[in-house]
Amino acid sequence: MKRKLLVSACLLGIGCRYDGGRVKKINVEELTEAFDIIPICPEIYGGLPTPRVPSERMGERVVMKDGTDVTENFERGALYSYELALAGGADIALLKAKSPSCGKGEIYDGSFTGRLTKGDGYTAEYLMARGIKVYTENEIAMLFAEQSKEK
Ligand code: SF4
Repeated sequence: MKRKLLVSACLLGIGCRYDGGRVKKINVEELTEAFDIIPICPEIYGGLPTPRVPSERMGERVVMKDGTDVTENFERGALYSYELALAGGADIALLKAKSPSCGKGEIYDGSFTGRLTKGDGYTAEYLMARGIKVYTENEIAMLFAEQSKEK
């Protein structure tokens, strides 16, 4: 049986990004050969529309560029993503780098100037705190390497 993997839906080519645009898609065929994929988009689960005003983390809060506080939406999205992981039996995730929801290790710094700072997106942090191992699309080789060790 293949291992379950949560994946940021935008990495699969789904147009759920804040601007409705698409990110550079990963190799979905290669991924589905190795894993059972559970797509997630925490910002949509949190009730935000597409397109939407971009958001960035400011410490424990998440704020849109127009000043709207969307922390509760991000909390809901993180919780729902975690519930999907539990329901599907996923203990690993492949998430979109730098996003205020999905980023790991570095995210935009809350100034909306494109500057990065150390930190994790809201959902990535929530998942990792509950034992789910998170990789970004820049770490796919590492994800496959660890997966082959498991076999
Ligand atoms: S919340 Fe995550 S999955 Fe949704 S568009 Fe942003 S980076 Fe992609």
